[in-house]
Amino acid sequence: MKDSNCIFCKIANGEIPSSTVYEDQDFRVILDLGPAAKGHALILPKEHFKDVCELDEAVAAKVLPLGAKIGAAMKEALGCAGFNLVQNNGVAAGQTVFHFHMHVIPRYENGPEMVTWTPGKEDPEVLAQTAERIKNAL
Ligand code: 5GP
Ligand code: ZN
Repeated sequence: MKDSNCIFCKIANGEIPSSTVYEDQDFRVILDLGPAAKGHALILPKEHFKDVCELDEAVAAKVLPLGAKIGAAMKEALGCAGFNLVQNNGVAAGQTVFHFHMHVIPRYENGPEMVTWTPGKEDPEVLAQTAERIKNAL
């Protein structure tokens, strides 16, 4: 299904031009307009899924291998030392376009900075309780 109000549906299906690095029957991979680093790419399914929770299982199974393929090509073509696969779900998580996408962000020896967080500390008892709450919701 496509969503006629969705910009990534239009880009993924070629209605809006983009810098495309890969395309097959399920996906288009484009360069991000506001790159975190040179070569920052977005894997877009051609079908509309709001986020990872809505993603079709057959499509989902292809996303990680495609991310690895794009990342390996970036290392070869752009000389990055590594890459991040990043995927945001929900406003609170930083999602701004509500059509599932996976970021492939090349990482170079000389920066820019890594996608990272400041590690916190947690009581083992609280960890156990938190794990239990998530487990019970599965
Ligand atoms: P999110 O924050 O939802 O995970 O990521 C959305 C990403 O899409 C952002 O990195 C943003 O720069 C990129 N983006 C938003 N609109 C467009 C667009 O029209 N074309 C391209 N190529 N990238 C876009
Ligand atoms: Zn869409």
